[in-house]
Amino acid sequence: MFLIKGAHVFAPADLGVVDVLVESDRILHIGEVDHHVIQRVPEAEVVNADGLTLCPGFLDPHVHLIGGGGEGGFENRTPGIAVKESALCGVTTVVGLLGTDGVSRTTVDLLAKARGLEAQGLTTYIFTGNYRVPTRTVGETVIDDMVVIDKVIGVGEVAIADNRSSCPTTQELARLVSDAHVGGLLTGKAGVVHFHVGKEVAKLSQLHELIDAFDVPAHSLYATHISRNDDLLRDAAALSNKGAFVDITADENTHADIAKFVEMGGNLAQLTVSSDSNGSLPTFDEAGNLTGIDVAHQNHLYNQVWCAGDAIGLENALRLVTANTARALALPHKGRIEEGADADILLVDDNRDLVHEWARGKQLVKDGKSVVKGGFDE
Ligand code: ZN
Repeated sequence: MFLIKGAHVFAPADLGVVDVLVESDRILHIGEVDHHVIQRVPEAEVVNADGLTLCPGFLDPHVHLIGGGGEGGFENRTPGIAVKESALCGVTTVVGLLGTDGVSRTTVDLLAKARGLEAQGLTTYIFTGNYRVPTRTVGETVIDDMVVIDKVIGVGEVAIADNRSSCPTTQELARLVSDAHVGGLLTGKAGVVHFHVGKEVAKLSQLHELIDAFDVPAHSLYATHISRNDDLLRDAAALSNKGAFVDITADENTHADIAKFVEMGGNLAQLTVSSDSNGSLPTFDEAGNLTGIDVAHQNHLYNQVWCAGDAIGLENALRLVTANTARALALPHKGRIEEGADADILLVDDNRDLVHEWARGKQLVKDGKSVVKGGFDE
């Protein structure tokens, strides 16, 4: 049990300066702590957080945990993630997925990596499938994977409007979304399909059609990479108003894209931000030739939240990586500072530097340094 005293708490709602009491992996109490409880907390386990900001640990719904890529050849396969990379970027919950390569990268390998990261302190989930439809699964169907594998909470990332997609028909997508939805109903999981949207002119038209003509539940649709250009961002703003979730891949301009999304009339409650971490960032010329490649990192996710806070208010900015993401993924115990919620907690100083972090009550960052134990990445 430990008591965090004196921090300004964003739950993500602004609660002002209140104390937060943690017992084991849960938040036990918020606010004035009864003197009987105080006596049970030894002196050493009171964390003085005067002048610090306290908020929920961030959720990152789009991470290539075992790496990704391969565009341009095998020499461009990107490396997997280390737990301390996430920890130092304030991320305490990740969803792992496969992208372009669903042959040399497998869902079973992804699952094993997710379990390893969980043992080291993060909370991890995965999507089954990859860019292509029909979807490769571990069991026979998406529903099998959702029922049998605890960590599978949906399908992704399924590519549309991209020359690397399998050019799925809207009928095929409707079947896939329906399978994920039924898997979600049977298991109490989100049952979302996470769509990778490319830069082709079709944009999100197939997802609009799924809602308008196929009557699929809009909240089962979760589209990412929506800030590639203004036309796509505007289309995503329209989709968000139909009840779908939409997600911006963080880069150095994300704070401006978030402000633009609001100007375009987008529904901020349906917006999240992810990192695409450890995925490859290929660049192509007009003719579609590969011109360069880089690896995504979670640092933009962390930095841009605070920049976005300047434009839309810190409460609203924090929601994009905490409460909204938890709602999209149907994880009610995540992304909030609330009695009974998981003790995923960040303490941040005036310079927006991460000072301390706990994930399910276990300290991962202390005085700005990773204190993660285990693994081969120390
Ligand atoms: Zn993608």
